[in-house]
Amino acid sequence: MKCLKCNKKSCIKISTNYFCKNCFTEVIQKRIRKELRITRVIKKNDKILIIDDGSYNSKNSVYLLKGTLKNLPCEISIKKSHYKIGKKIKTNANKIIIPWNLDDECEYFLYCFFNNKKPKYLGHYKLDKKLYIKLLLNVTDSESRKFADIKKFKYKKQKKEKSLINECLDVLEKEHPETKYSLLRSIEEIKKVYNEI
Ligand SMILES: [Zn+2]
Repeated sequence: MKCLKCNKKSCIKISTNYFCKNCFTEVIQKRIRKELRITRVIKKNDKILIIDDGSYNSKNSVYLLKGTLKNLPCEISIKKSHYKIGKKIKTNANKIIIPWNLDDECEYFLYCFFNNKKPKYLGHYKLDKKLYIKLLLNVTDSESRKFADIKKFKYKKQKKEKSLINECLDVLEKEHPETKYSLLRSIEEIKKVYNEI
């Protein structure tokens, strides 16, 4: 199949469209820029800490954040650490970028939903007056891995097996492209409802 944008040989399929390496990385960069523009989670003079757990999500976050901010004066630092949702990070930064993608968000939400737990940390969330930002919230796990491979980033191979929820989501996504994005839109609506209660 040929790339939707430039007609070169494609290497990845996003929902029903095919893209070459260059156009694919542009699509991802645009998506990140759009998310930051719409949500305005990063502002001038922010102190931003990126959590580096060695995964492709962290490596991509460093690259994409630096590429997106360009002329916006911000202080960026990187801390090697594992991360679990809801974990408090000690830092003097006011914004923290966590290694988290669309698949993680869908899994977290459905896990809470199936277990009757309140999903406290949907989307970008505040904890102890610090904003935890999911830079790759609109990027699926397979897109994130592909991006890191194209950019030739060195990352730790994940040892943990996929959860049953994620396996189910992958099957649904295959049958119905954009399932994960649709779920994300629903999660955003649900978050608004929670915030109003
Ligand atoms: Zn192309």
